[in-house]
Amino acid sequence: MNILVINAGSSSLKYQLIDMDNEALLAKGLVERIGFTGFDSDNFSQKVGDKKVSLHKELKNHKEAFELVIKELTDPEMGAIKDMSSIGAVGHRVLHGGADFTQSVLIADDVLKAIEDNIPLGPLHNPANLTGILACREIMPDVPMVAVFDTAFHQTMPRRAYLYGIDYKYYETLKIRRYGFHGTSHRFVSAEVAKMLGRNDLKMVICHLGNGSSMSAVVNGKCIDTSMGLTPLEGLLMGTRSGDLDPAVIGFVAEREGKSASEMITMLNKSSGFIGLSGGLSNDWRDIIAAAKAGDERGKRTAEVWSYRIRKYIGAYAAAMNGLDVVVFTAGIGENSSDARRLALEDTQWLGIELDEKRNAANETVISTDNSKVKVLVVPTNEELAIARDTLEIVSALK
Ligand code: ADP
Repeated sequence: MNILVINAGSSSLKYQLIDMDNEALLAKGLVERIGFTGFDSDNFSQKVGDKKVSLHKELKNHKEAFELVIKELTDPEMGAIKDMSSIGAVGHRVLHGGADFTQSVLIADDVLKAIEDNIPLGPLHNPANLTGILACREIMPDVPMVAVFDTAFHQTMPRRAYLYGIDYKYYETLKIRRYGFHGTSHRFVSAEVAKMLGRNDLKMVICHLGNGSSMSAVVNGKCIDTSMGLTPLEGLLMGTRSGDLDPAVIGFVAEREGKSASEMITMLNKSSGFIGLSGGLSNDWRDIIAAAKAGDERGKRTAEVWSYRIRKYIGAYAAAMNGLDVVVFTAGIGENSSDARRLALEDTQWLGIELDEKRNAANETVISTDNSKVKVLVVPTNEELAIARDTLEIVSALK
């Protein structure tokens, strides 16, 4: 069965078409600037094997974007399939499932309502995800669709990990708590590790280090803690997000600079992290580490704070799990930067972590020494495949 995986943003739509008979990627594409006019650059790109299409097309809304996607997927020359009927199901990435979803679900009206109800928790993404689902439904009304939530994997966290130390009424009335994100990636990677090592009884720390970054503590395949919180702002230092900080900073800066709460949150989301701490040098790890290696103070301090925080979370999670068997690195930085992994694991020998410099430099799967008590692995994440697998499982059960 071919499954279309959709990740709809407020003005963008990412997609992959996967043949689930052999988990082969048939097509991959991106539509940007949905709802915008008067731009010059191309805003649609698709890759089918070696065939690449790039187009400039003004699109009023997500429905028009979907129509374009289907047109290009079924293009006789540059497309991947003959017609729409060969798409057996659609899997949608949805950011915030709140406490309503512990796993992926078949999309029906009650699911749409729950995604809508969770908009206050994911005000930027949930409306876009919903728009994407509705647009897709209009075009393929008879194709089953599945929602896969970024928060679902973390729903196994115990209360001691998800409650914040504020008046309990905010949990009761506003549902303020830690939810965590990147759950599809953490779940995929932890399952891959269990498969690779042939055992489920593992205490793992997963480091998903990309532009957005998060870590999780996983015991016997279940998440017991994660670094992102009510929103993806908490935790590690990221490309443009601050991660953890004293909440009083918000009031302090807001008062002195006359900023509103929402301006402060935008500042912490968009112009902090790498870009902020490096004084505007870059939001991209490659630039930060290159600058650090060249002795540039801005790159050095950013890499230092970034890696120190990861190390602190590893220690905290080892304590939370009462042990540690595996540390896993994944996503753009985790999969590709041996410098990042080496820095993050500095001074962790006491925990039983012994990094093999050669294996690390060669981006091997196992990068710890043979004697290391804790195994350190590099495992590529594949959120789209995880979404497609869930979709297949749910849709197959319908028959
Ligand atoms: P997201 O999906 O959150 O947008 P990615 O997982 O694609 O982000 O990760 C993006 C980050 O990965 C960037 O900071 C980038 O510098 C880093 N990255 C990507 N490729 C490499 C590489 N070959 N070496 C070092 N860092 C890399």
